[in-house]
Amino acid sequence: MSAFNLTFHHKDLICSLVRTKRVTISLTCTPEGTVQVRGPLRTSVDDAKKVIDANMPWIRHKLTVMKTARKELFYDEKSIRLLGRSFTVLEGDRHDHGEDWIMIPQNAENRKKAIDKSCRMLAEKVFRERIDHFAPLIGVKPGKVKIGWGITQKWGSCSRNGDLYFTWKALFCEPYDLDYLVVHELCHLRHHDHSQRFWTCVACYVPDYQACRERMEKVHAAIRAQGWVNY
Ligand SMILES: [Zn+2]
Repeated sequence: MSAFNLTFHHKDLICSLVRTKRVTISLTCTPEGTVQVRGPLRTSVDDAKKVIDANMPWIRHKLTVMKTARKELFYDEKSIRLLGRSFTVLEGDRHDHGEDWIMIPQNAENRKKAIDKSCRMLAEKVFRERIDHFAPLIGVKPGKVKIGWGITQKWGSCSRNGDLYFTWKALFCEPYDLDYLVVHELCHLRHHDHSQRFWTCVACYVPDYQACRERMEKVHAAIRAQGWVNY
């Protein structure tokens, strides 16, 4: 730990202060259930505590979300929960998938990486189907569709020229929430921003999209907590 980082306790929370050459102070909750304050070099522990106190309701909410996230297990070696149901993880001679199973090569050195590849293939099929369903309804024609493995804060994106990107990790979400994601990106082909007009467009097809966003936030925390980010 460098001189610029330190850990301290505040109330019942384990907190850390990370001092860098930044100008503003920011606050995050980690999947491990700690609170991290990042601030300029001159930030003191007292400054950090003030920021924490000022944001206590938000911190409590985030930590509860993260705690639930650690409990809902998505994967237990033999099965993986995708699209709201259980898929058996089979070992075979190839990467493949079916209605309720995925196949990975036998004795895969990195099991998660092997699962990653099979899930990406499954995601290509699932997203293709949902895009084919929603694109004509919304009246848009997407360009290329790329399925990746990344997950930061984004489940998907839409480029200026109309190409769409989705992470296969959206398969960890319920089918209805995955539909919201598809609708969200397709609506960007009409409105390249998050303006009121954009959200009105989304609401035409997914009226309760706000609930989808909240559920997906929980899934996102769970994915992070269960090591589906780097492997
Ligand atoms: Zn968007």
